[in-house]
Amino acid sequence: MQRQDFVSATEHIADWIADYWHTLRDRPVRPSTVPGSVSAALPDLPPADTDTIRAVLDDFDRIVAPNLTHWQHPRFFAYFPANVSPASVLADMLIAATGVNAMLWETSPAATELEETMMDWLKTLMDLPPLWHGVIQDTASSATLAAVLMAREKVTDGRAATKGLAGLPPLSVYTTAEAHSSVEKAVRIAGLGSDGLRIVPHDDDFAMRADALAAMIADDRAAGRLPALVVATVGTTGVGACDPVADIADVAGTEGLLLHVDAAWAGTAALCPEFRAPFAGLDRADSYVFNPHKWMGVGFDCSAHFVADRALLTRTFSVNPAYLQTTDGVTNYRDWGVPLGRRMRALKLWFVLRLEGADRLRAMIRDHVAWADWLARLVAEAPDFDLVTGPALSLLSFRFAPGGTDAATADRLTGALLDAVNRDGFTYLTRTLVAGRPVIRFQIGPMTTDWSDVEAAWTRVRTLAADLHPGVAA
Ligand code: PLP
Repeated sequence: MQRQDFVSATEHIADWIADYWHTLRDRPVRPSTVPGSVSAALPDLPPADTDTIRAVLDDFDRIVAPNLTHWQHPRFFAYFPANVSPASVLADMLIAATGVNAMLWETSPAATELEETMMDWLKTLMDLPPLWHGVIQDTASSATLAAVLMAREKVTDGRAATKGLAGLPPLSVYTTAEAHSSVEKAVRIAGLGSDGLRIVPHDDDFAMRADALAAMIADDRAAGRLPALVVATVGTTGVGACDPVADIADVAGTEGLLLHVDAAWAGTAALCPEFRAPFAGLDRADSYVFNPHKWMGVGFDCSAHFVADRALLTRTFSVNPAYLQTTDGVTNYRDWGVPLGRRMRALKLWFVLRLEGADRLRAMIRDHVAWADWLARLVAEAPDFDLVTGPALSLLSFRFAPGGTDAATADRLTGALLDAVNRDGFTYLTRTLVAGRPVIRFQIGPMTTDWSDVEAAWTRVRTLAADLHPGVAA
């Protein structure tokens, strides 16, 4: 590509992005794409000759853009946010353009040292233990896998990695039914078997019961198992529940288990001192992850993973062929997780923390939490809805239960309402189960959202509910 063609294409793309962000509010959050229609619009074979940039960008506009779900949309209230700030996009351009592989200090000293410094900045901003060591993983799932593998390494004294699990007592990892599915995935990948995941009972607030944890560990030891790790969650995916980290750290400490804390979504709230209570006891965790790529405006992917014992993490992952043996006495992030090749993700954090700034991020979080509170009040006051959980920070859940309907009918209506909302496309919400019954989750997280977007989405939910069930006030 000629220099001038590249420059004019980037100008075109920059305009496209600015227009896209500016017009998001006027679009549906979700497209009404028919399955298979995108692949049908693409040629079966790659082009024989090169295309022009214009042709590729035209096809992007025609085939791709109209069939996107708009995660940056101000009425995207599904799942958790995946916020992309303009600062992060600018950094991503430089990351892509330099194409740096940050696997070793030597393969890009600036990438490694920027990553170390950004992890230290996060510790300062969030009042995390100053002696922790930080690394950017691609996802929280990878950090949780690293924690499970670290625990396996520790309790088997390295034997599981070198000789396999045969002949060892079965290992146990403890978490609750509300933990993210990545915990189960990690246990499976680590070869601990489906019995290796021990589901600890939770209380009425969906928080792990530390007394039940202690009892399960004792029972498992008596049965010849080897308790290895507890995974506590601050801000569960379903309802935003918070396990009691300090009580769990007591049990883990007494029993000699590692403790990993997953705050993939809620971790960003620790930017605000007033939201730090659920993190009490975190200083006694061995491993902690939160996702700047969720609420913090750092585009995919950027998962901040901290460990207390750096040597245990690197021992777990270090394999040392001659071609990777380079400068001594520096951090080589190749040893800190599964992948060897690593993007220079720290640049996104650097840009976001400098250009958006912690104060603006704090203001956004405070707005979202306040709006979730207002919305919860509207839901609680609406005669045909039950507020089921929350708000937990900016996440709440509700059911559509018009007066007099039994639980089974409310289940059906709640499911039908969610389907209607998501078919409609004006807003986008997620289904989950609370105590075995369907609820609709509503999380307020996009950086682009105003209170008027939340209100408009709630009004639309009520209108669609009235369409579904005559007699319900819109
Ligand atoms: N942990 C929790 C509590 C989550 O809510 C999620 C995703 O929403 C994850 C882990 C997985 O995050 P990732 O996609 O970064 O693996």
